[in-house]
Amino acid sequence: MSGVGQLLSMCVDYRLDGAACKGRHELFDPCSRDEHRDDFNYRSAAARRVCGTCPVRARCSEVAEGLVVRHRQGTWAGVTYGAFGQIVGGGGPSV
Ligand code: SF4
Repeated sequence: MSGVGQLLSMCVDYRLDGAACKGRHELFDPCSRDEHRDDFNYRSAAARRVCGTCPVRARCSEVAEGLVVRHRQGTWAGVTYGAFGQIVGGGGPSV
């Protein structure tokens, strides 16, 4: 494995193999500075619907809970977090 390949493999969390969000990060990313709040709410709601179909949601929730709170941003396991790790959307068992 190349140096880059080794580096990338260190960044991959294999608990999330099979994630329904693979290739759809644009829905899950945190709110950017220039994004309108309504646009963020719309796409994060779409992200939470994807989470509702995800086979690794429970493991994703564990990963999110293991993050430093300020790094919990965007949508994880059906919950959307704001800039300081506060919950701004979702959080129920079937979002
Ligand atoms: S629960 Fe949501 S954020 Fe987590 S891996 Fe699945 S689709 Fe992605």
